Amino acid sequence: MTTLSEQLLHRIRDAHKRRAMTWWERTYLPAVAQGLWLTSRHFWRNLFLHIAHRLGLFRHIPASVTIQYPDQLRRTAPRLRTRHRLTKREAGTPRCVACMMCETVCPARCIYIVAGEHPDPNIEKYPKSFDIDLGKCVYCGYCVEACPEDAIRMDTQRHDISAYSRDGMWLDIKELLHPGSRKFTDPPEKFVQLKPEDFRRLPPTPEPPPPGSGLAPSA
Ligand code: SF4
Ligand code: SF4
Repeated sequence: MTTLSEQLLHRIRDAHKRRAMTWWERTYLPAVAQGLWLTSRHFWRNLFLHIAHRLGLFRHIPASVTIQYPDQLRRTAPRLRTRHRLTKREAGTPRCVACMMCETVCPARCIYIVAGEHPDPNIEKYPKSFDIDLGKCVYCGYCVEACPEDAIRMDTQRHDISAYSRDGMWLDIKELLHPGSRKFTDPPEKFVQLKPEDFRRLPPTPEPPPPGSGLAPSA
């Protein structure tokens, strides 16, 4: 078995053995011509196919398309897992009972829950805070599968999580209960703790677009 330093030496020797470029290759004109030929070939092929499709011809041969995101949303597979949300009871409180099943099963260790005692004796606990670090999440969906209360779902049809910092990629409990309420350029309220009465003051959770309808643009 070769070590890393031996592999590196081997590569350096290989690089020295490489054939020297001819004066014609050093002008880079053949490479430029090759690139232009390739681009033109795709351009004319697509132009021909799009015109042919309009005329009802060659419909079995797909042509490339450009999706004008975010004005035009790409259709998605119905089973696509997108950003998480927490579902609510009719009273406006989260269905989550802070059982920690999702936090325990999460392979990326990116769910952070703080449990609180619920004033309703029928509901043992509720999540005071519920945060997910999407920078670590691998979108495996185990948290959804493990939940005994159908309290967490990955059906918001939101997928873009670009942010200016790692912190910006966190989903706090308010964002989880109302997906799209926070711009990802704004800092999240990480580990913010809510009392049961605070949930009633939050806006209602919007229904996500139907599965496969296309990704929702970021807030
Ligand atoms: S989708 Fe997977 S990695 Fe992401 S929070 Fe859920 S369990 Fe963790
Ligand atoms: S979201 Fe579900 S699995 Fe996770 S703590 Fe709440 S009830 Fe338990």
